[in-house]
Amino acid sequence: MSDYNYESYCGMYCGACSIMKAYQTGVKDPFAEFWSQSGAELKCRGCKSDMVFAGCAEFGGCATCNIRTCAREKGVDRCLTCPEFPCALYSNSEVSQMIAEMLPHMTTIAINMQTIHSLGIDAFLEEQEAQWKCPDCSTGYAWYTTHCSNCGKDLGDRKPYKNAFDKSIFQQLTPPNPDEPTK
Ligand SMILES: [Zn+2]
Repeated sequence: MSDYNYESYCGMYCGACSIMKAYQTGVKDPFAEFWSQSGAELKCRGCKSDMVFAGCAEFGGCATCNIRTCAREKGVDRCLTCPEFPCALYSNSEVSQMIAEMLPHMTTIAINMQTIHSLGIDAFLEEQEAQWKCPDCSTGYAWYTTHCSNCGKDLGDRKPYKNAFDKSIFQQLTPPNPDEPTK
């Protein structure tokens, strides 16, 4: 389907996104499942498309991403070609370390940027398409898929980060509820 776009501004590969995969195939990995249970509509055609994941009432999705907003305002193709790269949005703050630890798919951004820088975007997209397919049956899989949805192959070793999604990050990112009585 040509109306999907797997490129992003930051270097994330949208083709492996839990949300987009769920939208395309109906198969939800644990990350997509979490969003679905939070009331989010699992709907996206990619970071650079006009149908971008909106998140839910509590947590914003990619539509509210600072990096995406910045790149679109500046009119740059991707952060790598921005004269201000690397800017403060990439700073190694405590928050971004926590995000990297608990949402490890975010760590692919740095790896991907290097690949895009050295090989170019077309070679990168080809490489990613191959990376995110089951080696046995070629079924696509997402960031936190543990086993191939078609043949059951264990995909844990295929990813450059730990396989599990730790949803406690969302509890840590939520401000305390003012209506809840303090103990
Ligand atoms: Zn398979």
